[in-house]
Amino acid sequence: MILEAQKKPLVFKKVAIPEPADDEVQIKIKACGICRTDLHVMDADLTSPKLPLIMGHEITGRVTKIGKAVSGLQVDDFVGVPWLGYTCGKCKFCKRGQENLCDYARFTGYTINGGYAEYTVANARFCFKLDGKYDDPSSAPLMCAGLIGFRSYHMISTSAKNIGLYGFGAAAHIITQVAVAQGKKIFAFTRDGDTRSQEFAKKMGAAWAGGSGENPPEKLDAAIIFAAAGELVPKTLQDVDKGGEVICGGIHMSGIPAFSYDLLWGERMIKSVANLTRQDGLDFFDILKDVPVKTQTQFFKPEQANEALDMFRSGKITGAAVLVME
Ligand SMILES: [Zn+2]
Ligand SMILES: [Zn+2]
Repeated sequence: MILEAQKKPLVFKKVAIPEPADDEVQIKIKACGICRTDLHVMDADLTSPKLPLIMGHEITGRVTKIGKAVSGLQVDDFVGVPWLGYTCGKCKFCKRGQENLCDYARFTGYTINGGYAEYTVANARFCFKLDGKYDDPSSAPLMCAGLIGFRSYHMISTSAKNIGLYGFGAAAHIITQVAVAQGKKIFAFTRDGDTRSQEFAKKMGAAWAGGSGENPPEKLDAAIIFAAAGELVPKTLQDVDKGGEVICGGIHMSGIPAFSYDLLWGERMIKSVANLTRQDGLDFFDILKDVPVKTQTQFFKPEQANEALDMFRSGKITGAAVLVME
């Protein structure tokens, strides 16, 4: 499924199976999750995709060929391919362990081809070798919703007990399960009146769920905003207690309205999360050994990608949408 131009539907096309370069592996894709970032790429909120482009950065699949210089992966290994597709290893960010901020980073399904296809190639160093238990297509959303959700959650101090999640989709439903298992109390905020998502949040373990216009029943220690709505920032600052942390987990957000300094006063903090590091992935999959996260997914055939994206855009997907290739 090819994005030939932004603001246009994807085009179903037969293209050559990509051959791996020396440092790459070729992967027969099992499944690829649909992420909100894909909508931002398609709708031109993100302005510099490679074109034409194969979107998709929540890929799971099996290695079918390996490049000459690849070590650590073999044909038949089951792997996951995340958003972070390449970093330089040399810039100041890479050197200080912040490869997520690399000046020369490349991103799967944005500046390099991704997973809305039967095959892809990926730099072997940025693939996660996965346990056979992730073979189920419902695991694909772990590769971004899970990883970015986890990085956002990880940014909160461990002492935070009451955590608000604003926007209850793919990332929030995964991270709720992890947080609840670690003894946190989750407060889920959805669009006002979206009772279906509120019920879903409670089913996933949230202690409370309500509309984003509502006040939580208790002050929050921290909040993660997954929704792309900038007006949530002042509201969230109002919901967190002194010393509270507000993490913006999305790659794009609408403008943040001006707000009174009183809302930030009391050592409240606002921080964004950008991309992921490979270490985030290792830490996340390590935690999943103890916390069996179950994703709620809706499956689509690859040629139904436009339909799935439209449903996602209009809030009709509960949990995560996944394209299943085989
Ligand atoms: Zn994503
Ligand atoms: Zn770098």
